[in-house]
Amino acid sequence: MGSRFCGSAILRFCGSAILCPLFSVLCSLSCGSLLSVLCSLDRFGTPLHRFPAITVSPCNLRPTSRGTVRITSAAMDAAPQIAPNYLSTDEDRRIAADCIRLTRRLMAQVALSKYTPEEFRPGPAVSDSDAELIHAAGDIGTTIFHPVGTAKMGLASDPFAVVDERLRVHGLEGLRVIDASVMPTITSGNTNTPTIMIAAKGSEMVLQDAK
Ligand SMILES: Cc1cc2nc3c(=O)[nH]c(=O)nc-3n(C[C@H](O)[C@H](O)[C@H](O)COP(=O)(O)OP(=O)(O)OC[C@H]3O[C@@H](n4cnc5c(N)ncnc54)[C@H](O)[C@@H]3O)c2cc1C
Repeated sequence: MGSRFCGSAILRFCGSAILCPLFSVLCSLSCGSLLSVLCSLDRFGTPLHRFPAITVSPCNLRPTSRGTVRITSAAMDAAPQIAPNYLSTDEDRRIAADCIRLTRRLMAQVALSKYTPEEFRPGPAVSDSDAELIHAAGDIGTTIFHPVGTAKMGLASDPFAVVDERLRVHGLEGLRVIDASVMPTITSGNTNTPTIMIAAKGSEMVLQDAK
């Protein structure tokens, strides 16, 4: 399973020049990351901070960490065991550390100096060393809800492939998987629209094969 993970650095602004600005900035980075600047909160689903701040939210668009979803019991209603394994590769850890460094550089720009930004999270006590930044990324990072690839498309010879190029489950008659789980790798962007595309193509295949 591939999924995306997002590390947030929170900058608190002294003074009352801005109050939770409702602006959002997106820019692509050469390391394949997406950086968005949000009004400020600890993580998605939690309330906005009660002090003026922005949350800069860098995100690795091509993570190499892979997780697992395992059946825990033969009972249909038993919850599976889901292990995203975020930051389990050197590359992902390096990118996470670089993302926090980049955020610090960005917030140190002259254009922002009039707001006297103070780093709230991970916080000035965290140094710029790889070890401390990677540890901080693990603490402040959060999912952005894009799990895919639990039943990936691939050749029958691939031991990890579940469905073929027409989304039919290898080795079984009359069963298809048509959703985000067939993505062989995670898309470098949001997953909903590609899933709709898979659904459109998959439904055409069902109709074609029924003729
Ligand atoms: C909080 C959140 C925010 C997101 N934000 C974005 C976003 O901004 N942009 C974006 O592109 N993507 C976003 N995503 C990801 C996107 O929603 C998914 O990639 C996409 O919905 C995957 O589609 P799917 O059909 O594979 O799975 P789902 O949309 O999860 O569909 C699975 C369906 O199966 C049904 N189901 C489950 N079990 C059973 C059962 N036993 N019997 C019958 N039906 C069953 C469920 O009710 C559900 O309708 C977000 C996801 C979450 C959770």
